[in-house]
Amino acid sequence: MEQKRDIKQLSLDELKAFFEKHNEKSFRAKQIREWLWKKNVKSFEEMTNLSKPLRSLLDEHFVIHTLTVADKQISKDKTIKSAFKLYDGNVVEGVLIPSKNRMTACISSQVGCSLTCKFCATGQLKRVRNLNPYEIYEQVVEIKKQAIEHYNIPLSNIVYMGMGEPLLNYNNTIESVEMITSEEGLGMSPKRITVSTAGIAKMITKLGDDQVKFNLALSLHAANDKKRNEIMPINETNSLEALAEALKYFYDKTKTRITFEYIIFKDFNDTLMDAQELAIFCKHIPCKINIIEYNPIDGGKFQQADREKVDAFAQYLEKRKLIVNIRRSRGKDIDAACGQLANKNKVAISA
Ligand code: SF4
Repeated sequence: MEQKRDIKQLSLDELKAFFEKHNEKSFRAKQIREWLWKKNVKSFEEMTNLSKPLRSLLDEHFVIHTLTVADKQISKDKTIKSAFKLYDGNVVEGVLIPSKNRMTACISSQVGCSLTCKFCATGQLKRVRNLNPYEIYEQVVEIKKQAIEHYNIPLSNIVYMGMGEPLLNYNNTIESVEMITSEEGLGMSPKRITVSTAGIAKMITKLGDDQVKFNLALSLHAANDKKRNEIMPINETNSLEALAEALKYFYDKTKTRITFEYIIFKDFNDTLMDAQELAIFCKHIPCKINIIEYNPIDGGKFQQADREKVDAFAQYLEKRKLIVNIRRSRGKDIDAACGQLANKNKVAISA
């Protein structure tokens, strides 16, 4: 027997065509999308404005693949990390990060990751598969619910900084942003969304060509090719020069300032010489810099930089008129901090 398709994989036109073929009004397609996108139902039974025969027809032809919260941990600092189980048993993680003036969802774009960054727990897992647009979108839906349930504050920001490299899952990432920003979906502003990349120059250029409206962050971590190759093997084929060119192109096309993420590691990239290289790299790219405190991972070789060195590093950049924020890490006790996702979850994820 033919396998039933996941109804979420159908475009609006495909849904309309299905209804027309079965002598149903094509506006049903929009109703279905509303049930799936806005109300996030998990069965056809719940689509109560459809007749029973119509629900049975859908049930005959389609399934609804859903994402469920398999585990939830709450940190002392109120960060909430969720393990999301996908329909095929794979698990990805997402985090709700409450701070003084924002509620941020950090979400995943792939199961595992192929880029093997040396400081990252996910980088120690193999890439299993890309997430589809719904699987990305539904992480936001679930985290949005948590923001209200736990803190009664609406979700304000979304960062694609969880597991995976979003630009290696380009089309699904773009489609998920469309769902999040669409009035049919969550209606959030693209200016509240940041997609973070380890640095795929060709795809950064494509973002510029597509004139996306969301923010772009680059996980930089070293403004020196030798050092960056050491911790991020993707740099061997996407050098700093290629990235700088792609980022300038992105800025020219979108007029959106780039965010550079810079995890600061003890005795690796924490000197004033490193700060100088960073200042030179940033000089011709409209940007801001987030200096991020490192969270050691199991089996990792890096340590957290001393606070005085971090402060001196930031001051050096500020003196050169660069915009700098220091990000103290959140959710450390539950491995929800930057680079820690999947730290205790290898078995579940690499199933
Ligand atoms: S830092 Fe991002 S790109 Fe690098 S291995 Fe981890 S998840 Fe992949």
